Amino acid sequence: MSQRAHAQQFAPPPDTRDGRANLVGLSRDELGAAVSELGEPAFRARQLWSWVYHHGARDFAAMTTLAKPLRARLAERFRVERPEIARAQTSSDGTRKWLLRSPDGQEVESVHIPEAARGTLCVSSQVGCTLTCRFCHTGTQRLVRNLSAAEIVGQVMLARDELGDWPTSTAGPAAQPNPGRQITNLVLMGMGEPLYNYDNVAKAIRIVMDGEGIAISKRRITLSTAGVVPAMRRCGEELGVNLAVSLHAVSNELRDDIVPLNRKYPLAELLAACRDYPGVHNARRITFEYVLLKGVNDSPADAREMARLLKGIPAKVNLIPFNPWPGAPFECPSAEVIERFAQILFEGGLTAPVRQPRGQDIMAACGQLKSASERLKKAAREAAARTASRQ
Ligand code: SAH
Repeated sequence: MSQRAHAQQFAPPPDTRDGRANLVGLSRDELGAAVSELGEPAFRARQLWSWVYHHGARDFAAMTTLAKPLRARLAERFRVERPEIARAQTSSDGTRKWLLRSPDGQEVESVHIPEAARGTLCVSSQVGCTLTCRFCHTGTQRLVRNLSAAEIVGQVMLARDELGDWPTSTAGPAAQPNPGRQITNLVLMGMGEPLYNYDNVAKAIRIVMDGEGIAISKRRITLSTAGVVPAMRRCGEELGVNLAVSLHAVSNELRDDIVPLNRKYPLAELLAACRDYPGVHNARRITFEYVLLKGVNDSPADAREMARLLKGIPAKVNLIPFNPWPGAPFECPSAEVIERFAQILFEGGLTAPVRQPRGQDIMAACGQLKSASERLKKAAREAAARTASRQ
């Protein structure tokens, strides 16, 4: 299937309810067009942008720099809406996970990981996934559909609501972000393959990066891909975000099996795309994620081969001890094996921190996310979309 046909088949439903469009997820240009259709001057769009994305206003009544009649007209035509929380959980280590539901009933998860000096939000890009990586829980859920830009940005906005993380300063849109911000970093490492939903992901990232809104800089955003080679360059050129690559195996034979996307884009092509990733240099390295699977990819020879393969690429390695899920056909290696693996990489010139599992008790750690959403038959899907748009 072509990329375009794929994008159409798995497109999110239109985001209109009671005939009102959602302002969340509109680009600056789209917001500008909506405002000028109301016969308002362009600076109103800027004010509206600031209310929605800088202050996190959820209600037109709160937008006090806009005249009351304009607020009323806006409320007739638009909504400011995030996804709904179907379930919220907090781990004993402070990690939080939200199961979010869209108007058509589809569900995805987002995870907030607080650390001493920063807080990372992990967002999903698709409901389900096409990739079927064998160690990944999401991989057991078929792709249901792509998320819209509104649903991706909505995850960030909702997390900020829940964490009380909107700026309290009234110093205007140019004000510096709160020093104690709970979401300093954003990772596209939740459910789905972000580069298979490129347009919506790119639109969402542009909104999140905008300095007069949510203002998370590209240096603090990391997009993780299993290796959709043709989209990698575009991602670097157009968005300039950090790239993480899910490597997980150092031979095509093993990678073909555990990351089936490798059959389409084998290691040599993937590593060439990493070498060519725009903006990559020693201060801005590509992260290679490597889930350690006991007896599968955790030998000293694997570690040596990885050091050899990554030579010449500004790289850091993130070793991820395998996080279990019900029925998973793998186990996590012992701490000694993990330590030895990291040591060999270190001797080969690579920094290789071991990623501490976070939120395992609520199934929020890497590779544990999954929702109950299933892809309906076409007719049922259309009926659900019709119901959602009437609500
Ligand atoms: N599809 C993208 C985005 C998902 S990121 C990608 O593959 O990069 C999620 C990360 O967690 C990936 O590196 C994935 O390989 C890793 N992962 C999946 N299952 C895991 C598990 N059970 N334990 C640890 N990490 C896992």
